[in-house]
Amino acid sequence: MRFSTKAIHVGQEADPTTGATIVPIYQTSTYTQEAVGKHKGFDYSRTVNPTRVALEAQLAALESAAHASAFGSGMAATAAVMNLLSAGDHVVVSDDVYGGTYRLFSRVLERYGLTFSYVDASDPHAVAAALGPATRLVWLETPTNPLLKLVDIRAICDLVGSEIVVAVDNTFATPYFQQPLALGARVVVHSTTKYIGGHSDAVGGVAITNDGGLHERIKFHQNSVGGVPGPFDAWLVMRGAKTLALRMQQHERNALAIAQFLAQHPKTERVNYPGLPSHPQYALAQRQMSGFGGMLSFTLRVPEQRAMEFAGTLRYFSLAESLGGVESLICHPARMTHGSIPKEERERRGITDGLLRLSVGVEDVEDLLEDLETALARL
Ligand SMILES: *Cc1c(COP(=O)(O)O)cnc(C)c1O
Repeated sequence: MRFSTKAIHVGQEADPTTGATIVPIYQTSTYTQEAVGKHKGFDYSRTVNPTRVALEAQLAALESAAHASAFGSGMAATAAVMNLLSAGDHVVVSDDVYGGTYRLFSRVLERYGLTFSYVDASDPHAVAAALGPATRLVWLETPTNPLLKLVDIRAICDLVGSEIVVAVDNTFATPYFQQPLALGARVVVHSTTKYIGGHSDAVGGVAITNDGGLHERIKFHQNSVGGVPGPFDAWLVMRGAKTLALRMQQHERNALAIAQFLAQHPKTERVNYPGLPSHPQYALAQRQMSGFGGMLSFTLRVPEQRAMEFAGTLRYFSLAESLGGVESLICHPARMTHGSIPKEERERRGITDGLLRLSVGVEDVEDLLEDLETALARL
């Protein structure tokens, strides 16, 4: 079965009791048992819910995997994977991970006795050099946010060997453009709030693996801690995911056209998009990804204040955090998504005050280009 067929069919047989073609929203917390312990496999909705089970089957299939556990947010999914570890364990992390991931690691999990080393994982040898006897997990994100740097997943998996779990946050690329498990990763995590849900109307997350043992432990944590999505949110994410392929094709077409337009514009200094041959890792992008996605960032040749004003003058790009929905968004990372990182650290990483990030939507690209052109002309 191929990608879109899986998105539309896996986990989504007609409802056995009513014949409903679309998986119902099983808005129930509990299930009536015929006799003590005699039930249809469902006892309590924190543990198991039919709408969530359908979503988990669908999302596992999209990563060509056997198992998925759905969560109430991307951070809850990340926390569940990190809960595979114990006090004293060491983790190597790619240094421009999502800000919320950095916050979870540095402000929550360090208190539980985990230690973290942040390295520029775009160089696989930097990851190898950071490994120690206590290293149990490598956490990667690619492409990264907001600079769209890439990490060579296969090279890193080969370098670290099979004793260490490599986990990849695949939110930016989506399973449509990148399949980390096939490149050697053991676990994939998504914020389904973003492209997988795709309509900016639900918050969710998922952890996906082919490893039965890891899956059992993640499931145990899902039930023990309880960070599960409600049935309606599970249903919204499942509905969104049915059109993931269609949306990603248009996100990418639009993003490429905008990246090319910005790259030749005299008022831009630099454009970061893995689909441009000028991207320093263009060859890796072509090898590792089947498409380049809908995210890009760029710097304007103007002072910070003007860059921030520019972000507020666009007609179709809403000034907002988040990404991956059908509507286009613009954000100023230094003041918005990455505002919690100290300024010197931000600048060291290249997140300068003139940097702007676009989540390119699926609107007609001519409208998006006109919008950008008009605002640039006014600068
Ligand atoms: C948004 C995001 C997360 C966190 O997901 P939530 O659903 O907001 O909890 C994690 N990783 C990446 C790359 C994200 O963009």
